[in-house]
Amino acid sequence: MRMYDIIKNKRDKKELSKEEIEFFVKGYTNGSIPDYQASALAMAIFFNGMTEKETATLTLCMAESGDTVDLSQFGDKTVDKHSTGGVGDKTTLIVAPIVASLGCIIAKMSGRGLGHTGGTVDKLESIEGFNTSLSPEEFFTQVKNTNIAVIGQTGNLTPADKKLYALRDVTATVDSIPLIASSIMSKKLAAGSHTIVLDVKCGSGAFMKTANDAKALAEEMVKIGKNNGRNMAAIITDMNTPLGKNIGNSLEVIEAIEILKGNGAEDLKFVACALASEIVSLSKNISITEAEKLVKNALASGKAFKKFKEWIVAQGGNGEWIENPENFPKAQFIEDIIAEKDCYISSMNAEEIGVASVILGAGREKKDDIIDMTAGIILNKKTGNKIKKGDVIATLYTNNESTIKSAKDKFLSAIELSNEKPVDIPLIYEIVR
Ligand code: URA
Repeated sequence: MRMYDIIKNKRDKKELSKEEIEFFVKGYTNGSIPDYQASALAMAIFFNGMTEKETATLTLCMAESGDTVDLSQFGDKTVDKHSTGGVGDKTTLIVAPIVASLGCIIAKMSGRGLGHTGGTVDKLESIEGFNTSLSPEEFFTQVKNTNIAVIGQTGNLTPADKKLYALRDVTATVDSIPLIASSIMSKKLAAGSHTIVLDVKCGSGAFMKTANDAKALAEEMVKIGKNNGRNMAAIITDMNTPLGKNIGNSLEVIEAIEILKGNGAEDLKFVACALASEIVSLSKNISITEAEKLVKNALASGKAFKKFKEWIVAQGGNGEWIENPENFPKAQFIEDIIAEKDCYISSMNAEEIGVASVILGAGREKKDDIIDMTAGIILNKKTGNKIKKGDVIATLYTNNESTIKSAKDKFLSAIELSNEKPVDIPLIYEIVR
């Protein structure tokens, strides 16, 4: 078999066989297929797509290209959630303790942030003492004792995806539905959980800019998971506007604590509860209405907050900070953005607002950049809100004063103002089950 023929077949819109896909994944992972041939294939896939069978085969080959996590000791109660990446998306910090407090098992590996979206591992590391690199023994013991542990990626999980994703990133082939679906689902299958709920973001701050593309991606991933014996659902949620109010690592942990204490932004609570309810319904095999009641009660009773604190302390985090979030260190420089006239915010570009928070120091432009845990933005007004001259629209936080001007310019260029109230955009477009 020759890689040349595989590229040519895909270029000519032929369906690749299982053997051809296996040959490519094995060869690219072990280095016998060079980057230039892999990028030619990725581009051919970008233009010509993949059939359902090809996507399923690519997913499985990538899932089996390295280590897999064996969670069988926890039976069928293991659950996982994945977001395709958004700005201000701290739902894992809320959903994980809610579902763990209801008996689901979360043994999760999470990623770090890159570019305009944040990562759960970075957010957790903004809590003093929190350890995201537990040994396998520590990880499994904690899961047994508390139902929940979240660590950074370890071991040699899906090396084929790691290599291919890095290549796609520099060859303009990231935003292809079969490539995204196989990339995400290979990691989810390798991570071993029985129930997987996906949050597929749609809008200006997401890979998928339209609800139709987001739905196609969601359907593809749900199909892959179900065909591999997993309980699956995907919620298509809006990412035209950042989720909640706070963007930036410790700011997002503080907002998650507000929600777990029964307060906080309604949009964030709504999306987090929808995700938690899907997980609980699938995992316990109960109706979504019953699951919603359990989730509401876990929040209202304080059970979810108690589980959050237990989790953070079990992983070495400072429980005092969780009880009293005013203990989190504050950024040295704080700058309000003030409205200059009476109007409405008619739209926000979530991606550009994410970039503004990266400029302040909250994220990474390159993989080894160091994050300022206290940097970020608090949105006081969001799309649809009426603002009066003199109102604070948002507050910028940073320890690097020289970033404020360009972050402020970026933020202001990311919001549109109008005299008319804009039409409401739904928070959840659709649920694919
Ligand atoms: N996230 C992934 O893990 N893979 C993609 O291809 C896109 C987003």
